[in-house]
Amino acid sequence: MSHSMSLNDWTQKAEQLQPEGRAWIQGAYTDSADGATFESRSPIDNRLLTEVASCDAADADRAVKAARAAFDSGVWSQMPPAKRKQRMLRFADLIEQNKEELALLETLDMGKPINHALHVDLPSTARSLRWSAEAIDKLYDEVAPTAANELGLVTREAVGVVAAIVPWNFPLIMASWKIGPALAMGNSVILKPSEKSPLSALRIAALAKEAGIPDGVFNVLPGFGHTVGKALALHMDVDTLVFTGSTAIAKQLMIYAGESNMKRVWTEAGGKSPNVVFADAPDLDAAAEAAAEGICFNQGEVCTAASRLLVEDSIADTFMEKVRHAIAKWRPGHPLDPNTNVGAIVDEAQMNRVLGFIDSGQKEGARMTLGGQRQSTVDGGYFIEPTVFEDVQPGMSICREEIFGPVLSVVRFTDEADALRIANDSVYGLAAAVWTSNLSRAHRFARGLRAGSVWVNQWDGGDMTAPFGGYKQSGNGRDKSLHAFDKYSEIKATWIKL
Ligand code: NAD
Ligand code: MN
Repeated sequence: MSHSMSLNDWTQKAEQLQPEGRAWIQGAYTDSADGATFESRSPIDNRLLTEVASCDAADADRAVKAARAAFDSGVWSQMPPAKRKQRMLRFADLIEQNKEELALLETLDMGKPINHALHVDLPSTARSLRWSAEAIDKLYDEVAPTAANELGLVTREAVGVVAAIVPWNFPLIMASWKIGPALAMGNSVILKPSEKSPLSALRIAALAKEAGIPDGVFNVLPGFGHTVGKALALHMDVDTLVFTGSTAIAKQLMIYAGESNMKRVWTEAGGKSPNVVFADAPDLDAAAEAAAEGICFNQGEVCTAASRLLVEDSIADTFMEKVRHAIAKWRPGHPLDPNTNVGAIVDEAQMNRVLGFIDSGQKEGARMTLGGQRQSTVDGGYFIEPTVFEDVQPGMSICREEIFGPVLSVVRFTDEADALRIANDSVYGLAAAVWTSNLSRAHRFARGLRAGSVWVNQWDGGDMTAPFGGYKQSGNGRDKSLHAFDKYSEIKATWIKL
């Protein structure tokens, strides 16, 4: 049905929707302990979607107690992995069966185009949960190479209670990267969605229960600002804290861990990723299209946005013409219109932050060659047209700071060494791409890049089999792939004298 749904159909469906705003603790929806709520308004038109439970330390404590009791009972943590797998697969199936409602919640809550929510976010979420579920009965432990009179066992155990704090740009995908391996491994989980996008996480909580994930094993705590996230990060009975969000908050979480119980902290943080195009790129048209998608997709609200475009001098004029042409095809539209490819910015504060960077780019002397304006796409909504700055100097703030919006900074370079120096001149190291037909240069450059994901002749390659995470201040640890299980396990050495 969905492929034939029009703006009108989606609008009607949106009007019938009654989003759940209460927290989910011990297998049931519940108000916050003190009854406090905050408003969830859509960035599309500022419409009130629902009141959401504003959880704080008392709620964090309730959820941690429920999670700990479930873990200690063994109802999930001691269940054979093959059985946990079955329930996780059922969870993924239920998410898929409810994909239209969930996609609509994502779009209304954070403004992304409905077709992207439906055809990117929802399938990725289900795929991610399935991949982690499928892995869990195929992970073997180790036997150490001992002398004949000893037996050394190296075993992986669940850590216990995991708190997962996630951002608003891909609410369900980011949640699935954490809760997939965390739950599959047998942990109890408390998911803390962003206050800007709590609705889909609250909806899937009931689906987890329907799938047979026992009460207390999966809890969802929405909260306003730092309150409940901070309470979880400072809690003495949370074993592991996993986070995706900004570098500033990631650093703060490490402090909280040090101030409390030294819980393990794994963070996926910000980025300012370089997309490096050499004159010998195999296909400059493809490179231009990828550069456009890399900064326009999801309104540029992507941790791996291709936000710094580095272009070799000799092709810069012709190549930039192609890039501007490609970006012009990305236009803000009504997020519920299936033809829209650029939606609303998540909220007014983020819109103003992006507009502030556009302002500073002009003041710092970069040349704005496309966009730059707020758009009145829908009354009351927050829309910005994709924007290009050329003649950007590496020292300018639009070239150093993560904007998290559809704003591209273009820097020219002269040779390979110059390109690598500029590419690595960042506190971040999340992703990078290099476009070249020269095999040796491709490998040499890929090795030289200080980034967790490197793409050659494409932007944003990879799937669940590829680990994802950052170098430098883009974070530590890896999501996706078998490496992700390291975050959700302790390793035990058991040494037996025979
Ligand atoms: P944010 O850091 O403001 O918030 C992230 C989460 O932390 C939210 O749930 C928020 O409520 C919570 N939080 C805020 N203050 C807290 C505190 N003091 N203690 C505990 N929790 C707190 O980030 P955001 O605006 O939601 O998301 C945008 C950022 O996320 C960007 O910097 C982007 O690069 C990053 N991001 C990174 C990745 C990645 O995988 N590396 C993916 C997506 C987004
Ligand atoms: Mn919202």
